[in-house]
Amino acid sequence: MRQLIAGNWKMYGLTEQAAGIAGPLRDGAAGLSCDLLVCPPFTQIASVARILAGSPVAVGGQDCHVATQGAHTGDISAAMLADAGASYVIVGHSERRQNHGETDALVRAKTEAAVAAGLTPIVCVGETEAERVAGRETEVVGGQLSGSLPAGFAGVVAYEPVWAIGTGRTPTEADVAAMHGFIRAALVRQLGAAGQGVSILYGGSVKPSNAAALLAVPEVGGALVGGASLNAEDFLGIARAAVAG
Ligand code: PEP
Repeated sequence: MRQLIAGNWKMYGLTEQAAGIAGPLRDGAAGLSCDLLVCPPFTQIASVARILAGSPVAVGGQDCHVATQGAHTGDISAAMLADAGASYVIVGHSERRQNHGETDALVRAKTEAAVAAGLTPIVCVGETEAERVAGRETEVVGGQLSGSLPAGFAGVVAYEPVWAIGTGRTPTEADVAAMHGFIRAALVRQLGAAGQGVSILYGGSVKPSNAAALLAVPEVGGALVGGASLNAEDFLGIARAAVAG
């Protein structure tokens, strides 16, 4: 399975900045041994998709509503993301779980909505620092997986320890291996043999200098990258460190 390097631009990217990242990605993506994805803010999805059309770089959203359409002021449906040119959507990012009170049940409903719209969901899970210090990381991540993934799930999971996001800190390679192994076993318990086919991304302070080591860890199927995805050269540097599958 090819590794997936996914960029989460978060709430960054006016038109000029978005084009300034997408253009070099389009020009630099040929011949990579991994799949590439960028998830711009909603307002830039269509324009970034136009820039990347015909290139190997896919486009995704950062969240979606559970409904296809309706009276939901300020929300965006998965069908709207697909209509704008997206083929993936991130759901259950820790910033959504923390800042918008998203529960596992809501994340599961969003995941189902994404699949119904033809999008590949990237479902995020991960423990806080306090949970890890208390030795509860597998309990927390296991609960998020069983609560957030619908039956028959065939998308992507991203393990993102909350304390590693945007902090410059990363777990040790041994800790990443242990958690990815735990997630793989949980996926197989939950989904049967299909659980073997789910890519498990690592996310949290991935940059060109640590990407090769993190991407070489067993059961790491790629990376979900925040800050470093806002610089095309850094993002491509991470992609070049991917392990050929
Ligand atoms: C993220 O927000 O998904 C993320 C991994 O951010 P960063 O790479 O900046 O830690």
